[in-house]
Amino acid sequence: MKCKKIVLKQMYNGFPKKSDFEIVEEDVAEDLQNGEFLYESLAISVDPYIRSLVGAGYKRGDTVIGSVLVRVTKSKIEKFQKGKLLVLNCGWRNGGKAKESDVFFVRDDMPALVPETAGLGLYGIAGLTAWIGWILVCKIKKGETIFISGAAGAVGNVAAQIGKIKGCTVVGSCGTDEKVEFCKNIGYYAAFNYKKESGSLDAAIKRVAPKGIDCYFDNVGGSFSSTILRHMNSGGRVGVCGSISAYNETTPVLAPILQPTIGKNELILQGFRLRSHVSNYREAYEDLKKWTIEGKMKNYEKVTKGFENVPDAFIDMLRGGNVGKAVVRL
Ligand code: NDP
Repeated sequence: MKCKKIVLKQMYNGFPKKSDFEIVEEDVAEDLQNGEFLYESLAISVDPYIRSLVGAGYKRGDTVIGSVLVRVTKSKIEKFQKGKLLVLNCGWRNGGKAKESDVFFVRDDMPALVPETAGLGLYGIAGLTAWIGWILVCKIKKGETIFISGAAGAVGNVAAQIGKIKGCTVVGSCGTDEKVEFCKNIGYYAAFNYKKESGSLDAAIKRVAPKGIDCYFDNVGGSFSSTILRHMNSGGRVGVCGSISAYNETTPVLAPILQPTIGKNELILQGFRLRSHVSNYREAYEDLKKWTIEGKMKNYEKVTKGFENVPDAFIDMLRGGNVGKAVVRL
C-alpha cells in the first residue's frame, strides 16, 4: 500500500519553517510477520518536544517524530486486532506498518464524552504529564497556591483542572488576553498575559498570588521562571517540565542565578520526563477518565484538518496559536 510520511528536509535553524518539512510517499508491504500490524492514522499530535529534540541524533531525511492516534487495519498480534485504537510512537505518517514496541498506549475505552483526539491530549502525553507533575513530583495539597506557566496549553490546561479538583488555588501565565479569559473559564483563580507584563512581572505575580506560590509547574523555563522562584514560599516545590522559551533560540539563553533564591527558601526543584513513569500511566489515565465522567474535567483542543497541514499546525503551536492540545485530524 502507498503511505505518506513527513520528513525533515533540512535541520531547523531557529524557528521551524514550512520549507524545513517535506511529504514523501513510501511503499509499505502488506504482508505481515508475527508481531506486526498495519494501521491508518486518524490524528497526529504536534508537540514542543519535537522541536527540542533536534540535535539529539535527529537528522535530515528522518521522519519527524511524534505520537499518532491510529486504527489497526490488519494484524498479526492477538491483542491488537483490526479496529483497535492505539497511540503509536510512529512519527508523522498517515498509515503504515508497526510492531508492539511502537505502541505508546491503547485508547479503546475513552469516555464517549470526549472526541477520539483526546487520546493525544487529555488522555495522551499532555494529560499524563500534567498528572505526573502535580501528583508524583510536586505532590500538591489542598489549600496551596499553585502556579502554571504555559497555562492555556495542552499540559497547562489539564494541570489547572487537576489543581482545581485537588482544592488548590490555581494561578498562571499565558501569551494572549484571549488565553487569560480561557484560563478563568476553566478554573484558574487568576491568570495574566506575560507578554503584556514583561516590564512588571513581579507586580503581576504578586497580583495573582499575594500569599506566595507553594508549587510551580514550569513549562517555559528561562528568566520568567527565575522570577517565579523568587515568589515561592519556603519549602516550595517546582516540577521542571519543559523550557519552551528557549527551544527556538540559536544561542544559549541566560537567566538570573537561582541558587540564592533556592537556598534561602529551601525550594525543591525536580525535573521529570513522562517516559520515566510508564508504570504510572494506567493510574493517571484512570484518574483523568474518572474526573471526566464525573464532569470535573474537560478536553480542550485546537484541531487542524489535513495531513499536509501538520507542519503548519506544529509551527502555529510553537508560536502560541493553540488553546488546549494542538492536534491534526487526517
Ligand atoms: P503547549 O500546548 O503549551 O504549546 C506550547 C505553548 O508554549 C504555546 O501555545 C505558547 O503559549 C507557549 N510558548 C511559546 N513560546 C514561548 C515563550 N518564548 N515563552 C513562554 N511560552 C511560550 O505545549 P505542551 O503543553 O505540549 O508543552 C508544554 C511544555 O511541557 C513544553 O515545554 C514541553 O516541552 C513540556 N513537556 C514536557 C514533557 C515531559 O515529559 N517533561 C512532556 C510533554 C510536554 P503562550 O501563548 O502562552 O506563549
